[in-house]
Amino acid sequence: MFVFKAAVVGAGTMGGEIAQVIANADVPVVLKDIKQEFVDHGLEKAREVTKSQLDKLVSKEKLTQEQADARLEEVMGRITGALDYEDFGDVDFVIEAAPEKMEIKQSVFRELDEVTPGHAILASNTSSLSITEMGDATLRPEKVVGFHFFYPASVMPLLEIVEGEDSSAETVQAASNFAQAIRKQPITCAEVPGFVVNRILNSAVGELWRAQEEQGLSIQKIDAKVAEAQLAPMGPFILTDLLGLDTVLHVAEHLRESYGDSFYIHQGMKKLVDEGHLGAKSGGDGFYKDGEPQLEGDGDPSDELIETFGLKALVEACLLLEEGVAAARDIDLGMMAGAGLDPRRGLFPPFMKADLEGLDTVLEKLEKAEQEHGERFAAPRVLKRLVAQGRLGQKSGQGFYPYPQADEGDQTDTVKVETRDDVAIAWLTNPPMNAISPQVIKDLGTVWERLKDGGEVRAMVICSSIPVVFSAGADIKAFSEMDQSSGPELIDSGHNLLRELGSGPIATVAAVNALAFGGGCEVAMACDFRIAADSAVFGQPEIKLGLIPGFGGTQRLPRLVGSEKALEMNLVGDAISSEEAADYGLANRVVPDQELFDTALAWARKLAGQAPLAVEQIKSVSNNGDLDEGIEAEKQGFATAFLSEDAKEGISAFLGKRTPEWQGK
Ligand code: NAD
Repeated sequence: MFVFKAAVVGAGTMGGEIAQVIANADVPVVLKDIKQEFVDHGLEKAREVTKSQLDKLVSKEKLTQEQADARLEEVMGRITGALDYEDFGDVDFVIEAAPEKMEIKQSVFRELDEVTPGHAILASNTSSLSITEMGDATLRPEKVVGFHFFYPASVMPLLEIVEGEDSSAETVQAASNFAQAIRKQPITCAEVPGFVVNRILNSAVGELWRAQEEQGLSIQKIDAKVAEAQLAPMGPFILTDLLGLDTVLHVAEHLRESYGDSFYIHQGMKKLVDEGHLGAKSGGDGFYKDGEPQLEGDGDPSDELIETFGLKALVEACLLLEEGVAAARDIDLGMMAGAGLDPRRGLFPPFMKADLEGLDTVLEKLEKAEQEHGERFAAPRVLKRLVAQGRLGQKSGQGFYPYPQADEGDQTDTVKVETRDDVAIAWLTNPPMNAISPQVIKDLGTVWERLKDGGEVRAMVICSSIPVVFSAGADIKAFSEMDQSSGPELIDSGHNLLRELGSGPIATVAAVNALAFGGGCEVAMACDFRIAADSAVFGQPEIKLGLIPGFGGTQRLPRLVGSEKALEMNLVGDAISSEEAADYGLANRVVPDQELFDTALAWARKLAGQAPLAVEQIKSVSNNGDLDEGIEAEKQGFATAFLSEDAKEGISAFLGKRTPEWQGK
């Protein structure tokens, strides 16, 4: 499923910006509304956003004014305004961003089903309505999916890909790939009111709203305290003024209706909306007017109140997990990309935060909060279960995520070793994205030699100490800075190491928790087995940079998945889900995220218990064949591609977040 042309239906608050995001990724897009003035408004918004992005690049001297002017026209030239469906006959992906009413959505989907080609994916930007019901209005419910942007779409990186009951796995993966192509961060979730981020945020913010009204607290002091306590980038009242009080109220009412009393509706906000005070959109008059709070109350928020926000966010996140709406990684990633929680700034999403604090401590706090505030703080079962198992978070080596408990003594910089009897765990620790850098290759090599020489370890698990990524691929920058002699040397040592992982005496298991791209996927493929978490995605995207896989991707992938599928993955460069990886033979097993580490460890234990000599012989004999010849051929091909003009252009476009222009040189 490839997207050469897209369309957006509805050019309102969201539509204009969504069209801008697509056009800015160099995909042509039709922007349709029902009146010319609405279309014009959407186009203006797209122009305004593009201009302000380009102005920033000019002020940073990354572009000249002439280049920026030309780029503005280029981006705008990719958006075609429309009042009818005439230009929809060759679209591949449509995003409906019409008003939030099921009758309107269904009628739009019925029309789209008639005017777009049968292969086109029909997506909705709905914040709350059922994707399944929209799919019911079409003859292709399997190609209908949620594609939920956050406001403002040109800035917010998150996209929630919402699976309706009938959405096919292929549609969901294609939507995820398209999200990445337009430079957004996708997470996938099931169709429940509020999806992931709005549900958690509303549940938690409701506690602040409730306390403000019940205790007569100052909204200004709450906002200041939330920011100061690093719960969120900004306080809830100031944020609501920016989002629009009516929009926030609408979502809050919907969630309260769906989930009951544990969600709170701020009565003061309701009154402000009734009086037309909507925040920035009504001229800056909302919870604040000219910086002055418009609600009664001057009480100081307590530290305990700030804590209840975090506790409630965790309860809701656990419920999402228990209901199977989304995986832990996607929930945390959603809160990072959609609610601005950035661990680098000390702002942690719910599961990471709980793991850091200690799950036993968090459980105690919840029990206390339940006594004080009632059932809505009841400790979720997943949390109780983890505590009962002694999985207390970072301090015990496992909580919602696994954490390295590195052995005492010498450790390398980027690969930390933990030994458990005759099994070693090699933790890739090269934040933020576990890029396979020259240092990682060197460190993994050092670790491997040590383990082999030590003679006590019989199996090794390679896993990531970063919850949201296995490895995003080779460190492109470091590789492109290498010279004629260090480059080939590194490639050789990398190949030798990967060859050893698959043929040496120690059995190897890759525990793929999340994204495994390029070099990351190749490291996993070099292991004897790959156990994948539900959240894992695999891919060889080198082609997108004008490169070819350089660590065996052209050789091991066909051996695992067959030559045709491998050719497809290497030539197309798109990601595949863990489910597809298992179907093709790339992953040996797929397990729920929270069971990944245990499962990989269990496999390693099993392998460590087998007769060592036989393991060594089976590995070495099974790997006989022309792999080495193939790798030699890949090295030649890699060097040719790597030294080409196209590769220079591809890498510079990748780093500059633009579309490359190939010359075939
Ligand atoms: P909006 O009211 O600003 O814009 C909707 C546009 O759709 C209007 O311009 C309207 O004229 C147009 N429209 C109505 N019927 C149409 C039809 N048959 N064909 C083409 N256009 C039609 O709404 P919005 O805030 O942009 O929201 C759009 C969707 O995005 C909703 O589903 C909403 O829930 C969702 N959403 C909104 C936000 C937000 O913050 N505003 C955030 C995320 C998602």
